[in-house]
Order: sequence, then structure tokens, then C-alpha cells
Amino acid sequence: MIDKINDVYSQSLPAEHKDWECQLCGKLVRDPVRTSCCKKFYCDHGMQSALFESDLVCPGCNTNEVLLQDLKPDEVRTHVAEYSQKWEEQRKPASPPPEIK
Ligand SMILES: [Zn+2]
Ligand SMILES: [Zn+2]
Repeated sequence: MIDKINDVYSQSLPAEHKDWECQLCGKLVRDPVRTSCCKKFYCDHGMQSALFESDLVCPGCNTNEVLLQDLKPDEVRTHVAEYSQKWEEQRKPASPPPEIK
């Protein structure tokens, strides 16, 4: 059996961290950026491709001409990084994975 790639970014967020939810993918924001239009968090990469595909229309509030330089890395980044680190520590398997020969 192959383990699914399973990381903190694929989990649903606990209620106390709901504000870290990406408005695009509905998961924990990865490299969060905040828009200057609607002030919401988005994954950096996801937002860049969304803007590229929609011709610079904000996927959150439909503002036109949202520029990549309007996306501000947000300080929530630090908290998300800590959270993800803790999560990784907690999920360490009790026994090492079987060796494949
Ligand atoms: Zn996202
Ligand atoms: Zn917006």
C-alpha cells in the first residue's frame, strides 16, 4: 500500500484557526499573502495562478487589476509555520515505516 501524501495543508482546519483558511482552496494557507482589496488570505502560489487565469481579477471579491505586487506576505505566515511544525511533530509514526528492499 502506498501512503497518500498527507500533510498539514491537506487537513481541514480546527475551528480556532479558521481564519487561516485560504479563500481559494479552503485549506490552511500555504505561504499566505493578503490582498489589499478584500484583505483575505490566499496561498501565494494559488493566488498567482488564479490571477493569471482570471486576468488579474481577485477571486475573493472580483476586484479588477489586482497586481502581484499588491499581494502582501502576511505575518500570519509565522504562525502557520509554527502550527505546521507542531502538526508534523505530532503525526510522527510510532514505529518506523517498513524498509523496502
Ligand atoms: Zn489555497
Ligand atoms: Zn479581493
